[in-house]
Amino acid sequence: MSTIFSKIINKEIPADIVYESDTVLAFNDIRPQAPVHVLIIPKIEIPKVTDIKGSEHAALLGEMIDAANKIARDLSIADDGFRLVFNCGDNGGQEVYHLHLHLLAGRKMNWPPG
Ligand code: AMP
Repeated sequence: MSTIFSKIINKEIPADIVYESDTVLAFNDIRPQAPVHVLIIPKIEIPKVTDIKGSEHAALLGEMIDAANKIARDLSIADDGFRLVFNCGDNGGQEVYHLHLHLLAGRKMNWPPG
């Protein structure tokens, strides 16, 4: 089922886009949990981590990581460090069922996470 992220991909609703390729889109989270909070999503609809098939989606996941690294370099946060997070399912805290990689940075992250 399509989510609000499909509307962002199709430019039906606005987002603060920081990176775009043929396969991947990245935009600022509307409720940032850190000074830098970017969501990196595939343009195809994959609901959640458990729907990923390594044989099918390996290149796409690599592109998402490449995008995260490029954004981190562009924002000059690569050296200080950052956190990448996939929330999966209810207990994982997933709210939007379109795969997304959170890029969090700009402050010291806590561990264990809440
Ligand atoms: P998750 O809890 O992992 O599913 O994360 C979903 C994220 O999407 C949350 O951090 C929301 O703040 C963010 N979000 C929801 N709607 C939008 C939107 N229209 N634009 C940007 N971020 C959004």
